[in-house]
Amino acid sequence: MPCAVITGITGQDGSYMAEFLLEKGYKVVGVVRRTSTENNGRIAHLQDDLVLEPGDLHDQFSLIDILQRHRPDEVYNLAAQSFVAASWRQPVLTGEVTALGVTRMLEAIRAVDPAIKFYQASSSEMFGMVQEWPQRESTPFYPRSPYGVAKLYGHWITINYRESYRMFACSGICFNHESPRRGLEFVTRKLSYLAARVHHGAVQSAPFGDLTTTRDWGYAPDYVRGMWMMMQRDEPRDYVLATGETHSGLEFADLAFGHLGRNASDHITTSEDFLRPAEVVHLIGDPSAIREDLGWEPSVTFEELVRIMVDADLDLVADELAHAELAAGRRSG
Ligand code: NAP
Repeated sequence: MPCAVITGITGQDGSYMAEFLLEKGYKVVGVVRRTSTENNGRIAHLQDDLVLEPGDLHDQFSLIDILQRHRPDEVYNLAAQSFVAASWRQPVLTGEVTALGVTRMLEAIRAVDPAIKFYQASSSEMFGMVQEWPQRESTPFYPRSPYGVAKLYGHWITINYRESYRMFACSGICFNHESPRRGLEFVTRKLSYLAARVHHGAVQSAPFGDLTTTRDWGYAPDYVRGMWMMMQRDEPRDYVLATGETHSGLEFADLAFGHLGRNASDHITTSEDFLRPAEVVHLIGDPSAIREDLGWEPSVTFEELVRIMVDADLDLVADELAHAELAAGRRSG
């Protein structure tokens, strides 16, 4: 039975990767950082099939210890301080986790067994002020946030360990990918959740930053499949994972509210609080290399993605409201 270690298993991609690898017959070991309240919602349905180990990308020894005890074949480094906006508020922490955390994991692999394969979650945010359209593996980088800068360090240190120590270390340069498990602070999920709350009468509107910027948005389960495919190559190399289409936040909002028979403009306000010090205006990826080499294709269109997210949030909000009503009833009764 092959064994994989996943950092960031409690996050969106980590939870889908865990599902995907369990279906493929892997033993899956998830690295979870200690929190005062459990944070395993996205993997609760898998918990009996996973091995969860306490560890943190800040903590070198915890990573070495996990690798020594489980001797995995593959490590997927999906953990990060992953929210661009937060990276201006916490630039040092972002650098520690999203950048140096990659070196800590690579060093752990080097110390325990350099034959362990390593995947790094690189990001289209490294292209930032884009230098070429569409963006491909050879496009020069120009990050525009502490997050993008930290990811670029992680990307280059992965290449450096591959070249310095002949390790199987590769990066997926992933463009945005979403799902019902996306964090509520990310714009797509904030929109789908708002649309659902408006529909259920819980709220009227919410403030957003610049929704005119465009992104290449795909479906997260497609992307974890691509990451795994990259790890099955004989020789490591980096690939762009993207759909090759770009859409604005406004288009996402129109589709989300339109799906519920509403106008997005009636429910969205603009607030300077959500504007970024430096913006990435337009991203569109070119996935032709991974398509041609590995046969990877996205399976969900942009329109389907929006519908999947809104439908899931309709159910979630209905549950949340029912629970709130029950709790209120208990308090008054
Ligand atoms: P996510 O949902 O925000 O998950 C991030 C994960 O990292 C969580 O499990 C989090 O744990 C963990 N983490 C944070 N700090 C840690 C630390 N110090 N030590 C160990 N674990 C830590 O992110 P995602 O959307 O799944 O993305 C997965 C990876 O792909 C990230 O590296 C992200 O930057 C990158 N990426 C994502 C996209 C995208 O569109 N989703 C695009 C390009 C690249 P807690 O649950 O405890 O917070």
